[in-house]
Order: sequence, then C-alpha cells, then structure tokens
Amino acid sequence: GSWVSMPKVELHAHLNGSARSSTLLELARGLGEKGVIVFSDVEHVILKGMFCPFCLLDLFNDRSLTEVFKLFDLIHVLTTDHATVTRITKEVVEDFAAENVVYLELRTTPKRNDSKCMTKHSYMEAVIEGLRRVDAVDVNFTSTNNGVGRTVKSSLMSDTHTYNGLPRKKIYIRLLLSIDRRETLEAAMETVKLALELKDVGVVGIDLSGHPKVGDWTTFLPALKFARDQGLRVTLHCGEVPNQEEIHAMLDFLPERIGHACCLEEDAWRKLKMSKIPVCAIANTSSNTIVWQTSITLSAAIIGGLLESCNSYVGVEICLTSNIRTNTISSVDVHHFADLYRDKHPLILCTDDMGVFSTTLSKEYAIAAATFGKKEIFELARNAVEFSFAEEDVVQELRDFFNMKRDEYG
Ligand code: IMP
Repeated sequence: GSWVSMPKVELHAHLNGSARSSTLLELARGLGEKGVIVFSDVEHVILKGMFCPFCLLDLFNDRSLTEVFKLFDLIHVLTTDHATVTRITKEVVEDFAAENVVYLELRTTPKRNDSKCMTKHSYMEAVIEGLRRVDAVDVNFTSTNNGVGRTVKSSLMSDTHTYNGLPRKKIYIRLLLSIDRRETLEAAMETVKLALELKDVGVVGIDLSGHPKVGDWTTFLPALKFARDQGLRVTLHCGEVPNQEEIHAMLDFLPERIGHACCLEEDAWRKLKMSKIPVCAIANTSSNTIVWQTSITLSAAIIGGLLESCNSYVGVEICLTSNIRTNTISSVDVHHFADLYRDKHPLILCTDDMGVFSTTLSKEYAIAAATFGKKEIFELARNAVEFSFAEEDVVQELRDFFNMKRDEYG
C-alpha cells in the first residue's frame, strides 16, 4: 500500500532485533547440525515472532519484556560471529530500503566474544563491511569522501541511476553504538571511544538500551557525558518500566531524543512536554544539575541568544507494535502517541526490532494512520528528518527530498 511507497525515516532500529526470522532459523538449523544448540528447542522461540500482528493467534503470543530479552540472548548466540554480523547488516539495510526508508539510523551494541576472536572494534568492522556489501541499493554511510565508505553517486533528488530498468533506490545510513545496561562503565567507555574512532564511517551517536530492570543508568553517566562533550549525539531508552526517579534524571540529562517514554507519571510527562516550550536548560556545573527555566521569564535579547544554543526539544521515538507486544502498553487506543501527537510534541514512528516483533516501518505508519487518521502522516515522516543525528547537509537534502514528495503524498 501507500505506506510502503511513501518515503520514510527510521531512527530507532536495533540491528540484531531487525534480523530476518528466516535468517535466524537458517542459522539455528546450522548450529543445530553442528551440535551447538538443539534446533527443536529454539525453533518455536524464533517462530513466535513470525505471526502476523493482525491475526488473532498473535494475541496469545505476546512476548513480555523478560521473554524478549531471553530471545535477544538466543539471537546473539546465533549471530555473534563476524560473517553473520556482516550478513544480517546487509539484509537489514536491504529490507529497510525495500520499503522506501531513505534515512536509516541503525543502532547496535558492539560485542566482545573471545571464543570468536571478536573485539568491539572487529564487531563494528563486520557491521561496516555489511554496509559496504549492499549492492541492490545505493548506500551512503559516510560523511567523508575518503574512500572508506561508499558514497551515493547521485543524490536522493535525482533518479539518474537505474537497476533492472528502475531507478536505483538510495539510502542514507548512520550508526548509533548502544551501551547495554548489563555492561560496566569501563565497557561503556570503550564503546564511546570506539564511536569517536568510527565517526568518519558514519557513527553519529550513542544509545543506552538493554533490559530496563537491569543495572542503574547512573553507572553510565560519565560515559554519556564524555560522549556528549566529544560531540556525539545521545538517545536514551527512557520509561520502559515505571521508574520515576530514573525517568526524571534522564530527562534532566537532556538527551536529544528518548526511546519509548511509556511509563511517565504526570510530572515527568509535563517535564518532557515542557522541553519544547522552548525551555532553556542551564547546566549548573557546580551541583551537576539542570535548572529548568521557561523563556517567558527571560528578556527578548537573552531569548534570541539562548534559542540558538538551547534547542531542547526532546524527540520521542515511538515504537507502537513493540510496546504492545511486550505488554508495556495495553492497546494502541491508549498509547501515549496520541497525546504527543495532539500536542505537536516531536515524535518519530519507529520499528524497534522488526524481526522480533514481526513489523515493518510501513506497518507502524499504517497502525498510526488507522488509529489516528491519515492526514498529517506524511508530515510525521517528514518531521522525523529534523531529529536525525546526521550532518546538516544530509538533513538539508532529506528536507528538500520530502518537500519535493509533498504533492504526491501530503
Ligand atoms: P543489538 O544491539 O544489535 O545486539 O540489538 C539487540 C539489543 O538491543 C538487545 O540485546 C537489547 O540490548 C537492545 N534492545 C532491543 N530492543 C530493546 C527494547 O525494546 N528495549 C531495550 N533494549 C532493547
């Protein structure tokens, strides 16, 4: 349908959660034959993710958060060697490009696996090799034209390249490196340093994810602050479980975006929404806290100067199917997406884990359109551009591209 053909932007997709179920089954069968795992034990676990989200059976197969994280551990057993990481990266990019995602911010947790001679660095090299191997579409994943990454030969704005007689699809890809809440501060620092090293192959930021009930996010605060000081952008999984103290502290950190935002009580919700008033957050370095101050109390001259430096809209990455399938939100009708949407708070529709949750970005748009009306859905896709962590010239090209498509879809 039209949601497949409409150009889209994906900002919250975990690599291993986006792997094709068919690939996971193939890998599991292979490891079963080698005697590493018992295939019949894992087959049904993978298949559980393959039901259509609209069929009745699916209602009885929702995964709880805990089950989902058990599945991630299994997926990691199947995928954590260099060749497989390369393969799933290539496939995930091709799958997003096939449904007309024109900008993909893909996130993944760099993993060390001594038995595979894998370091966080070599894991990332395998990911980047996957980006290089994509051949069905033009991929741009690097800001510098230094021969490291392949740049698009033509911009999104022109259809000069053809593939099987059709214009070749083009996709911009930028990477976020995830810190898993299970990790130590030392491991998190290694991830941030790796991100800095890989800036010229498209790494633009850091994500904090992993089981929301595991670990304490303050463990990672020094690494997240270091990342920000070094010019990396930060997004945090925030409010997947009702931990109000953590939610407040995360909002006070002022990440550029947060993921999910499901379990915010009233005052945290207000704080999130205030972030677009605009609010200027003035860091109080002596006490390490943030002072919230609405611009109303500031003089016009000060506002002029501060607005530039304090563009503190916290964009919310919304993952409808994911939230419902993990029972974090009971149904789309009561999803906080509606409230943000009504208030025009910046939000971005995302898949989270399209393999694990059997979804696609087109389906997420279809669900939103069916529940909340089709009007403005194109604008939602277009506005996501403003929350990408890419360089300004890429953002500008994406803006121009969406503006060009407005007559067709808007
Ligand atoms: P990877 O980082 O490429 O291995 O992608 C899978 C990982 O992403 C999981 O092991 C989690 O750490 C993280 N992840 C995926 N989905 C979620 C989610 O809904 N909440 C928190 N973390 C998640």
